[in-house]
Amino acid sequence: MNLSIQSLNNVYDAWRIMAIDSVDLVVIGGGLAGLATAALVARSGKSVCLFEQSSSEIGGRARTSVHDGYCFNQGPHAFFPADVGAKLLKELGVSYTGGIPPATGFEIRDAKKYRLLVSGSSDSMTQANESSLGKVFAQLSDLLNKSDFAELDNVSVQEWIDRNFHDADSTALMKALISLTTYGNDPEIQGAGSALHQIHVYNQGGVMYLDRGWQTLVEGLVAAAKNAKARIVMGKKATKVQRNSSGWQVTLSDLGQISAKVLVIAAGPHEAEALFHNGEKPEVLSKAVKEAKPVRMVCLDVALSSLPQKEALFALGIDSPLYFSVHSAYAELGPQNGALIHVAKYMGTSIKPNPREDGKELEELLDLLQPGWRQLVVKKRPLPNMVVSNALVTAANGGLSGRPAPRIDDGLYVVGDWVGSEGLLSNASFASAKRAAQEIQNELAPRL
Ligand SMILES: Cc1cc2nc3c(=O)[nH]c(=O)nc-3n(C[C@H](O)[C@H](O)[C@H](O)COP(=O)(O)OP(=O)(O)OC[C@H]3O[C@@H](n4cnc5c(N)ncnc54)[C@H](O)[C@@H]3O)c2cc1C
Repeated sequence: MNLSIQSLNNVYDAWRIMAIDSVDLVVIGGGLAGLATAALVARSGKSVCLFEQSSSEIGGRARTSVHDGYCFNQGPHAFFPADVGAKLLKELGVSYTGGIPPATGFEIRDAKKYRLLVSGSSDSMTQANESSLGKVFAQLSDLLNKSDFAELDNVSVQEWIDRNFHDADSTALMKALISLTTYGNDPEIQGAGSALHQIHVYNQGGVMYLDRGWQTLVEGLVAAAKNAKARIVMGKKATKVQRNSSGWQVTLSDLGQISAKVLVIAAGPHEAEALFHNGEKPEVLSKAVKEAKPVRMVCLDVALSSLPQKEALFALGIDSPLYFSVHSAYAELGPQNGALIHVAKYMGTSIKPNPREDGKELEELLDLLQPGWRQLVVKKRPLPNMVVSNALVTAANGGLSGRPAPRIDDGLYVVGDWVGSEGLLSNASFASAKRAAQEIQNELAPRL
């Protein structure tokens, strides 16, 4: 018999297609949302299999890469200890350490730096007396205490600022604060309710830069999932999902297939919709794809052998959407005398990245704050077009209530930063994972 390699491959593929595995839950995507969902459902004793398309890196946008001993998050990542993610990680036994940067530093106006003096304590945004910005912070604290955030869901950030602040400096500072905490840069369309809630959460617990980067969260979630006997399969992209008699059939990039009673898609809206072929696309997903306005950021991540200006640790653009922070000043991210700096530009949903010009602008910001940095570079990593959030929360869509719910249909769920009525950024991913896991456990519970 003369079997060619090609025909052997065909036989092998056919065998794999026939070898259909079956589990309670398949999760597509190994970012924070997918990992958290897999861990929570596996802990209730259900069989869970998660597929991540990357063959080498788990964690999606929360992954950290190590270069020359420096831990590079994917752009600036700050964890909100007072938000829903912290509660979920505690429930799953995921621990982390890090430092809370004080709300002090520099503001950038007219390409010059000025001291921005906000109280160093993490539980308060009270302005230091000598600063002219004191009134803004006092007024903001007062407004946050009085606000019913849900009532502001249909109000845009611009409208809310116009109602409450009446001079150019306060208005510019409020916009910068909203960019800092939400990564948005679209005051005309961004919903005020979720943005103010985010500042409120910041005011309660500050933000934390994590030792060894966000990979600690990813590794903790992987361990929680594996301890609960979830299978995590790397290097397999889901290419198609369709209903079958027991629930769902998922086809993978290697043509393997797996059946599941319940399916969770933990990817962005476009990737989720693309999994449905032959006119089977759920309406909710098509709507989400049509409406989603991804929030983008241009980042420059830089490791230096030492920090030229020890006192310049944070700066925020007031008349330009710029961010600068020395994350290694508060978290263990590399060698002791070295520095890991994140510089970035908030692009919002409509500013088009221009890698050459943006890169130059970010390097000039470093020149202003850390003159001499160019001679100390260990590694410079530009990330010219990052999706920080798959969908801006807009006033026109009714704020957070306009996002799709995790449960789309019987046995079909989505989770991620564009899903559910709670949280922004990673906290939306965590909150939607928690909600989906609760509903999946009910759905999979034996009927009496
Ligand atoms: C520059 C930047 C700064 C940020 N800063 C912060 C911050 O300060 N604070 C904060 O809370 N959040 C921040 N975020 C947001 C945070 O990183 C994300 O909200 C969170 O990581 C999203 O997790 P996720 O699991 O929902 O999605 P993702 O991380 O996008 O994970 C999706 C995963 O699914 C996989 N996948 C997709 N399609 C398939 C398929 N067909 N088959 C198999 N696998 C598939 C992908 O490879 C990926 O691993 C930031 C993000 C960026 C980019």
